[in-house]
This record gives sequence, structure tokens and C-alpha cells, in this order.
Amino acid sequence: MAMNAISKMVDNVLGKKPVADGQTRPIRSETETMRALTWQGKRNVKVVDVGKPLITHPKDAIIRITSCTICSGSDSHLFNGELPTIDKGLVLGHEGMGIVESIGDEVKKLRVGQRVVIAFDIACGECEHCLKQQYTGCEVTNDSVLQEKFYGHACSGIFGYSRMLGNYDGSQAEYVRVPFADVTCYPVPNEVPDEKALYMSDIACTSLHATELGEVKEGDTVAIWGLGPIGLCAARWCQIKKSEANRCHRSCSRPAEFGAYQARH
Ligand SMILES: [Zn+2]
Ligand SMILES: [Zn+2]
Repeated sequence: MAMNAISKMVDNVLGKKPVADGQTRPIRSETETMRALTWQGKRNVKVVDVGKPLITHPKDAIIRITSCTICSGSDSHLFNGELPTIDKGLVLGHEGMGIVESIGDEVKKLRVGQRVVIAFDIACGECEHCLKQQYTGCEVTNDSVLQEKFYGHACSGIFGYSRMLGNYDGSQAEYVRVPFADVTCYPVPNEVPDEKALYMSDIACTSLHATELGEVKEGDTVAIWGLGPIGLCAARWCQIKKSEANRCHRSCSRPAEFGAYQARH
């Protein structure tokens, strides 16, 4: 039996842990539809009509998507069937931005019509981890017991990323429901175009985080494995941090090919 089917059986047996009301059930309109990219099976994704997302919690917002990306790492794992517990029909996408279409009664910082970037990780803003700004450790947005058993602590929910990450519909769609919208959405000034702001949803932050974990500082020589969008942005962050990532080595001014970076030539 395929890994996906087995993992879903285990998921069914373990059950769910309680999270904030209405958060993880993807509730879609039965009367209004939208176009969305959905997972249909291994190496099979399809744009289909699905019900528009509905506000199911007073801290939700519905965002009309104006730009989204295909994540060259994470989405390819889903596409290739490498991540278990994904259900047929899930709307994909965790990197998106758009315009606030509607808000729940308890959304305080956003207004309808505002442009926002949506963070890939869904965070409540109030739990122990969120108060330390460790948003990917949010304790109330991922109901997966299975992930907790695997990793010792479940991480936050992530849009469009299987039952193990909360089973939320994603943003490769005309509309997406954003839980805890005050925390998960970041307003964008009108003069900043989508093409610049969009990367704040994942790529710019993930690549910066990589350089933080690598403790990159001025004068360091840095090698980057894998030169997709994250690798390119990590290289740029290194340059911004005045590292020597844009040179072969300290005494050399020849620009290095990042993918074939060598200290000796
Ligand atoms: Zn991503
Ligand atoms: Zn939280």
C-alpha cells in the first residue's frame, strides 16, 4: 500500500488534537465557486472549480489573490508524492499575496481593500511560541497528532500542505482563507509592486533564516548547495551582510559561479 494511504490510516487512528474553533476544517461555499490548483495524486495537479473559502472564525480574513508562486522545493515534494497525508482535492500553495476581500469580526489591524502578503506559516500570535515570535512553532494552528508523534512537537499549520500541516487550503487559487489574519497577513505599501513584496511570504525570509543558522558574518566565505530561488536569495543576503559570497576567496576578485563555488582554481 502506498505511503500516503498508510499515513492517512495512522492519522485517522491517532485522531486530532483540539485547536482554535473552525481553524483547520477547509469550509467552502456551496453556491459560489473559484478556480484553484488542486492536488489530484502523485504527479497530477489540476486547475478546477472549487467552492470559495468562507470565514469560519472571527479572526479569519478572505484574501483575493493577485500573485502567488510555485515553491520549487516544498511544492515539488507534494507534486512528486514525497509527503504523506495529502488528500485529493487540497488547494495547493503557501506563498501568496493579494487584497483583503472580507474580514471576521475580531480582525483589528486589516481593512477591506488593503494589499497584504500572506506568511506561509499560520500563527495565532498568542501562544507561548508566538509570544517569542517563533511563529512556525505555533501551538494552536496544526491539529496533527501524527506530526507531533513524528517530531516531538507539531509545527504550525502551513497553507496547502497536507493533513500533517493542518490541512489548510492554499493560495494557488483566486481566494484563500487566512486564519488569525492580523498575525498572518502583512500590509504592503501601494508603491511596492507584487513582484517585490511576494517573496516576503517565504523565500526572502527562509533564505535570510538560512544565513542566520549558518552564522554568516562579514568576511566569511560561504558555499551554497542548491541554487534555486532560496539559494539565490541566500547569496544576496550574504552580499547584503557583506560576506565574501560574491568572490571566489578572500584574495580573488573574480566572480564565482555560485553553484560550482570553489576556493581553489
Ligand atoms: Zn515555499
Ligand atoms: Zn501561536
